[in-house]
Parts: sequence; C-alpha cells; structure tokens
Amino acid sequence: MFTSLCSLFSASSDGDRKHDQGRALIRSTTNTGRLGSKVEETKGELEVTGVTADSSLGGCIFCDVSREKGFNVVYEDEKYVVFKDHRPAAAQHLLVVPRRHIDSVRTLTPEDVPTVKRMAEIGHSILDEMQIPFSNRRLGFHIPPFYSVKHLHLHVQATPYKSWLKRAKYPVAQGSKGYSKGFGWFVEVEQAIAIVEKGERVKISSC
Ligand SMILES: [Zn+2]
Ligand SMILES: [Zn+2]
Repeated sequence: MFTSLCSLFSASSDGDRKHDQGRALIRSTTNTGRLGSKVEETKGELEVTGVTADSSLGGCIFCDVSREKGFNVVYEDEKYVVFKDHRPAAAQHLLVVPRRHIDSVRTLTPEDVPTVKRMAEIGHSILDEMQIPFSNRRLGFHIPPFYSVKHLHLHVQATPYKSWLKRAKYPVAQGSKGYSKGFGWFVEVEQAIAIVEKGERVKISSC
C-alpha cells in the first residue's frame, strides 16, 4: 500500500474500501450519515485513492495513468505521461512517469539513461512554459525504501515549498570527494544520471 510519506496517493483518512464490479468505488461504512456530502467534497481524492486500492490487488498505478483514472494529466505522449501531484509539496509539483515500468531509481542501469534524460527534458520544458527560473526548479527521485511508489516517477517542482516539513522530503545532498551525491533519500535527476552513467547504482549513502 502507498501510505508512505510520498503520499501522492496516500489513503484517505476514513472509510472502508470496497470494489464494485471492478470499478474503484469507495464507500464509507463508518460515517454513512455524512457520506453524501463527504464524497461530494473530496471526490477527486477518493477517485485517486480508488486507484491506490486497485494497486493493492497486484497492479501498478503508474503503469496505467490516465484522466479516466483520476490523474490530473498535463502532458502525455506514447512513452511518457506528466500529471500534477495530488498533494503538492511546492508551488508547482508535477510527476513525470515513463509508461514502461521501471521499479525505481535504484534499479536504473546505463540503458535507462536516455529515458531519464528525456524525463528531465519534459519536466524542464513544462517549467519553461510556466516561466519558472532555474534557481527555483528541483527535479529528482526518492530513493526506496523512502517515500516511494513502486514505479519510477520524477518529481518536478517549482519552489518555494509549502512548509519546512514538505521541504524535508526533498533534501539535496551534494556530493564531494568524487561522489555525485551525499547521504540522503532524495537524488537530483542530474546526480542520478551521473551515477548511473558511471555504471553505479543510486543509493541512500554517498554514490
Ligand atoms: Zn508500473
Ligand atoms: Zn516520490
């Protein structure tokens, strides 16, 4: 389940979840009195949470991103899709996902470098359109087991962060002494590319 701090699709706070004829419908069995208005208010969240519930049955939510599934898609092509983070940590917060399933930044190999570079390119071009200065851009990945949905997703953000707590989820760990990255659970996309191009794996410790 994706109840991690990554929280893009973290579970809603109340209510049991049931599937109805394969569709991701969610019903509260605890607050039936308020159910009507509750569903109305948080429809978007519930729809997306329904997708999360699906994933617990064995699927991968990011292998099947679409507007129909409740994602706020802002860009898509044959190989990539970009959507707004459901719980933005920053002034702008998008996720770029390859349609091809890749587990995480940890499993990247040199063969994946063109994919990662393209993800960054797409992210930057969207930020270009938004006229976000480079100094306010942050693009990177969480490193499992921290905060991560199990399908490679690039966080594309325009700062400022909404709070210090949100900021703490995306710490840049500068490398030193030949390392591209220092200790930390977040890796900037350029760091990740440099590490993988060296033939190494991205990890929490310096690499
Ligand atoms: Zn997937
Ligand atoms: Zn993440």
